[in-house]
Amino acid sequence: MSWRLDVAVQTPAHTALGDWLSYECPKALVPGTLVRVPLGKREVLGVAWHCAPADDGEAPDPAVALKPIAAALDALPPLGAAWRDLVAFAARYYQRSLGEIALAALPPQLRDLSSVQLARRLKRKKAPTPIGSAPDSTAAAATVDAIALTAEQDAALGRIRAETGPFLLFGSTGSGKTEVYLRAVAELLARDAKAQALVMVPEINLTPQLEERFKARFSPVHGSDAVVSLHSGMTNPQRLASWLAAHSGAARIVLGTRMAVFASMPGLALIVVDEEHDPSYKQQEGARYSARDLAVWRGQRESAKVILGSATPSLESWHQSRPAAGDDPGGRYLRLAMPSRVGTGGSAGGGAGELPAVRLVDMNLQPPKTVLSGALLAAIGERIARGEQSMVFLNRRGYAPVLACGDCGWKSECPHCSAYRVFHKIDRSLRCHHCGFAERVPRACPACGNPDIAPVGRGTERLEEHLAELFADVKRPDGSAVRIARIDADSTRREGALESQLAAVHAGEVDILVGTQMIAKGHDFRRITLVAAVNPDGALFSSDFRAPERLFGLLMQSAGRAGRDAAYLAAQGSRAEMWVQTSHPQHPLFAALRRHDYAAFAEQQLGERRDAGMPPFAFQALLRADARTQEAAQGFLNAAALAADALEDASTVMRYPAVPLAIQRVANVERAQLLVESGSRAALQRLLTGWQPLLHGLRRTPEGKGVIRWLVDVDPHQI
Ligand SMILES: [Zn+2]
Ligand SMILES: [Zn+2]
Repeated sequence: MSWRLDVAVQTPAHTALGDWLSYECPKALVPGTLVRVPLGKREVLGVAWHCAPADDGEAPDPAVALKPIAAALDALPPLGAAWRDLVAFAARYYQRSLGEIALAALPPQLRDLSSVQLARRLKRKKAPTPIGSAPDSTAAAATVDAIALTAEQDAALGRIRAETGPFLLFGSTGSGKTEVYLRAVAELLARDAKAQALVMVPEINLTPQLEERFKARFSPVHGSDAVVSLHSGMTNPQRLASWLAAHSGAARIVLGTRMAVFASMPGLALIVVDEEHDPSYKQQEGARYSARDLAVWRGQRESAKVILGSATPSLESWHQSRPAAGDDPGGRYLRLAMPSRVGTGGSAGGGAGELPAVRLVDMNLQPPKTVLSGALLAAIGERIARGEQSMVFLNRRGYAPVLACGDCGWKSECPHCSAYRVFHKIDRSLRCHHCGFAERVPRACPACGNPDIAPVGRGTERLEEHLAELFADVKRPDGSAVRIARIDADSTRREGALESQLAAVHAGEVDILVGTQMIAKGHDFRRITLVAAVNPDGALFSSDFRAPERLFGLLMQSAGRAGRDAAYLAAQGSRAEMWVQTSHPQHPLFAALRRHDYAAFAEQQLGERRDAGMPPFAFQALLRADARTQEAAQGFLNAAALAADALEDASTVMRYPAVPLAIQRVANVERAQLLVESGSRAALQRLLTGWQPLLHGLRRTPEGKGVIRWLVDVDPHQI
C-alpha cells in the first residue's frame, strides 16, 4: 500500500504555492517526522504534516503521479502537535508560508544531514544525567536558600504558583526579577521531572551572564546538560546540539533570544520573557513575528505559565494587565508589581540603592552650542575625584551625522539612499548606515572645491573626543589622566571586542564610558554612579507614535545602570544620579521620569492612543512594497488597496493611502508602505488572508510592474 504525505518545505517567497507539497511514501509516517524530499532539482528538508492512504480520493490531482520522498529522518522523534500548531499559527497570523516558518524554526545544520548522519549524531549524544543523581544537591539547595526573598518577590512567586497567568512581572530595575524567574524555574523542575522552561532575553549580549547564573544554580541539581542556549551567535553545530537537547527533553532549561520561541520542547511548562518591552523581540525581516506575542500564544496552547517581565512594560502588555474597574472586566494578564529596588540577588550579592535622582538640564538656558552643560561636567568631575564611573550616552554613532560645505551647501548625501552619510573620523570615511556605501572623506567640497568642509551635529566618536578635551587637565586621585572609553556598534565590530571593553569597565579601568543605547541595557556595572543622556529630544516629536514609549523605556533602563550597589554608594558617600539634557524640560515624559513613575507615563500615553484610535486600541498591519521607482511602489500599494474593496471585511478595515517610508530610498530601491487598521483583530486577520491571493495576482498585472518585492508586517513596530 502506498501513502500520500503532505510535507511543509521551504518554498521561495511569493511563489504562492500552498502550505505543503504532496509526495508518495511507502509507509505511513507520523506527522512531525522530518523527511528529505525532492524539490525541483534539489533535495530539501521538510516536515511531514499529514499522511493518508494514496487512494483516499483526496489527492490534489490524481492524474499526476506523486514523487516519492527521498528519506525519512525517523531516528529523530517527530515534532509534536503543539509545535506544529505554533508554527501553523505563526504562519497564518504573520501571513507567511507554513514551510518558511517551519524550516526557519529548525537548526540550519539539520538541512545538511542525511538520515544516516543524523542517526549517528543522535547515538553519539550521551544520555542525560539522570535526575536525582545530582553531584551535590545539598550544596545547591544551600545556595538557593542563602538568598532571602523580599516580601515583594515572595508575594509574586506565590501568585505565580497559585494562578494560571499570563503574568506581567512589573519590577523596577534592581527589584530582583531574575531571582523570581530562577525560583519559578527551580520550583517547576523540582515538582515535575519532565518539565522544561524557556527563558528569553532580548539581546545575545545578555545571554552569557544569564547562562552563567542559571548554570550556577541548576547544574549542581539537574546536571551540566540541563541548561542550553539558543541564539544566532552560536555556530551551527552548537545550535544543533542545543536544539536536539531541547527536543529530546534532556535540556530542562532553554535560554535564548527571540528565535528560541520556536524551540521544540516536549515538556514545556514555563516561559519567561525578560525585558518584554524590548523591540528586539520583533523580527524585522522575513517573517516579522513577535516572539513575545508568540510566547503568550504558545503558553496558552501548551498550558505553560508565561511570565513577561519589565520595569517599563510595552503599553500593550500594560493595557492587557489592567485590573478590572467599573464596566471594564480588566485585561487577560495578571500584573505583579515589585516596586522596590531592594536587591540584585545572585552571586553578585549586595542590595541596590535607591533609584537615582533625575536631574533635568534645560538646554535653553545654556550658552549657544553647548554640548555638555557646566553642571553636568562638574558632576562628572566629582565622580572622577572620588574614583567613581560615569556613563554618557548618545544615540548616534560615528563622529558627525553630516559633513557639509558652508559655501555652496553641499552635504554628504548617500548617492544610493535618501540619507546622509555619516562622518567617521577614526578612518576618515563617509559611511552610509543604511546601505553600507563608504568612501574616503574628500579633501575639498566635491561641488565647489572649498577646502573647509565641516562636520555638523555630533555622534559618539565626536562626543568622546569632546570629553577628552574637556577633561584633559583633570587628574584622577592617583594623579594619572582621566580614562575615557567608547562602546558602540563601531567599537565592538571585532570579535570579542565588546567582552573586553565591558571587562575593562567592570575592572574600574574606565572613568567615563561613552556609548549608544547598547550600554544602557542590562549590564550590571557596580561602580557607575552617574548616567547622562546628552540629547534625547528627537524622540519626543517623532512621527513614530511609539518613539516616546521607547525613549521612556531607554531612559528608565539607563537610570537603572547607576548606583546598582548600595554598599558601594554608602562606602563612597555618593549618590546615584541620572542627568538628562533637554530643550523641553516641561514635557510630561520627563516629569514622569523624574518620579520614576512608569504608571503615570503609561496612563498618559494610553490616553493619547485611545483618543487617536491607535494600538492597543486598534490593530494594524503594513503592506510594504519595494520598487525601482516610488511611483511603481505606491501604484502597486494603491491598486492593492482598491482590490481589497472586494473583500468581505473591507468596510471594517481602514486602508490609508500609500506613503513613502521615512527613509524612502535605500541602496537605489524606492520604498513605500500602506497602513491597514481595524478595531477588530479578527476582521484585520480575515482581510489579510483574503488579500494574499489578490496581491500575488496583482504582481502579475501592469500595477505590479517594477515591484521588486512586497511584504505584510502584522502588528508593525515602526510606522
Ligand atoms: Zn561647496
Ligand atoms: Zn546608502
